[in-house]
Amino acid sequence: MKELTGIPASQGVAIGKAFLYVDDVFSQIPRYFLSKDELDAEWNRFREAVIAAEVEVRELRDRAQREMGEDQAKIFEAHLLMLADEDLQEQIQHRLHASQFNIEWVLWEISRELTQKLSASTDPYLKERAVDIYDVSRRLLHQLLSIKKLSLSDIQEEVILVTHNLLPSDALTMNKRWVKGIVMDMGGNTSHTAILARAFEIPAVLGLSTATREINDGELLIVDGTAGKVLVSPGVHMLERYKKVTLQLKKISEELQQLRDLPAETKDGHRVSLKVNIEVPEEAELVHRYGAEGIGLYRSEFLFLTPGQSADEEEQYHAYIKVVETMEGKPVTIRTLDVGGDKIIPDLQSTEEKNPLLGWRAIRFCLAHRELFKNQLRALLRCSVHGNLRIMFPMISGIEEFETALEVVEEAKRECQKKGAPYSEDIQIGAMIEIPSAAMTADILARRAAFFSIGTNDLVQYSLAADRGNERVAYLAQPFHPAVLRFIKQTIDAAHQAGIPAAMCGELAGNVRATALLLGLGLDEFSMSGSSIPLVKQIIRGTTKRDCETLATQALACSSYVEVNRLVNDWMKEHFPNLS
Ligand code: PEP
Ligand code: MG
Repeated sequence: MKELTGIPASQGVAIGKAFLYVDDVFSQIPRYFLSKDELDAEWNRFREAVIAAEVEVRELRDRAQREMGEDQAKIFEAHLLMLADEDLQEQIQHRLHASQFNIEWVLWEISRELTQKLSASTDPYLKERAVDIYDVSRRLLHQLLSIKKLSLSDIQEEVILVTHNLLPSDALTMNKRWVKGIVMDMGGNTSHTAILARAFEIPAVLGLSTATREINDGELLIVDGTAGKVLVSPGVHMLERYKKVTLQLKKISEELQQLRDLPAETKDGHRVSLKVNIEVPEEAELVHRYGAEGIGLYRSEFLFLTPGQSADEEEQYHAYIKVVETMEGKPVTIRTLDVGGDKIIPDLQSTEEKNPLLGWRAIRFCLAHRELFKNQLRALLRCSVHGNLRIMFPMISGIEEFETALEVVEEAKRECQKKGAPYSEDIQIGAMIEIPSAAMTADILARRAAFFSIGTNDLVQYSLAADRGNERVAYLAQPFHPAVLRFIKQTIDAAHQAGIPAAMCGELAGNVRATALLLGLGLDEFSMSGSSIPLVKQIIRGTTKRDCETLATQALACSSYVEVNRLVNDWMKEHFPNLS
């Protein structure tokens, strides 16, 4: 038996066979010699691949034109031109004959030479063409190698998914019924794959670095998502032990279900609101399953991330209506499109950025794509008359950005009026506080925002300059760092001074070790993955606001996250010995 240790990203235990998922076409290029009389057939193979790729790209271009406008469609126009480029084809044909290597190898060599040359250019236009060449040659290689981009939606038996890095779009399309566990080389605790794994209640261990090299396809695995361990080819005793653990976990969660209909109220009568974070409309029913008060964060970008699914105004409207109606009057906070960073819209954001996490993300992307933004805002506004809906903007860096976004809402309202579409005039619009500059100026933002929601995943990432998806710097991402605690306090205080509520929808809101501290800091609303609600509620109901305030004062006086961790652990041991 081999034991691998990584980051515990989604709780629970899964036992099953490894399904090794490696989709890196560039590392699988075959290389072999051909005889002279095989060259014509090889060239024909290439021509067929070009024709098939053209069909794909045309479809993408048409979709981009329909949903995103001319600028995006132009990217695919450029790809079509590249596929039809006679000089390039001549060069490839010439190399095929001169080298007599198979066409995949020839194509790979030429595209590598071209991308290297273009990337080295100082002209930004030429630099960008390197990305196009990469994209087009990848598409051709998929065709030539008949790689049907192995689809995770096709999995038909219980497996543990073992992969280097799962993009959020892959995680969305995987067949959740059969994927029992996730094991990944990359990723941190607040990466979007981790968030999705928790949302889907799939045990996951991330940041293992070498899992795909150490685990073979079909090997038996135990994934302990609570301890962050993966046991490869475990013996009979270990299997028995883990089967017992699984039964115990089931029993505990059944017991906690008894809290379902009780309020999240401390022993001294202080009540807060517990809500659920969702990524897809189907998750909305978790609110009822776990007795939550509504949805505190609907990550609307996942509508756009699902490959093959378009999201024009009507489609969004129907998705939002579905969520709002499932809520039966309970509040729903929908966050506008937060793409970029690690959430790339397949086919539409093909420009590579050097620092995507500091780049064209979220509200920045939306303000630069007004039509796309207004499509979403109109869908949301129209939906506002069907239920209790709030809108929230992600990645707000300061008042200018927030006010510009509000102006776009006004424009969208005027457009609704013109079309005779009713909307709720007093719809509340809030700001996510997830960039240090926003936390520092929360008092200014509070003059215009109807509420705040603290996004600790990004707030921690940006305060400590530690990429949330990079396992090498995961040790730095400490939500109990004094800097983060001060930002949280400052945001909550500013909200309360302005008379608006302070919510939190980052992962810290569902962390039981943080519950008392956040209560003590005055947080009004905690939004988290559904499965975290019962334990958080147990803590809230088992403590007093006064005790929590003392804890918060002590935590704010600490000089390091190590000290805060120790303080919180001691507090948990004293107040909730069975949970620590
Ligand atoms: C956050 O940053 O804490 C957050 C809730 O948003 P996301 O995780 O989607 O970036
Ligand atoms: Mg965020």
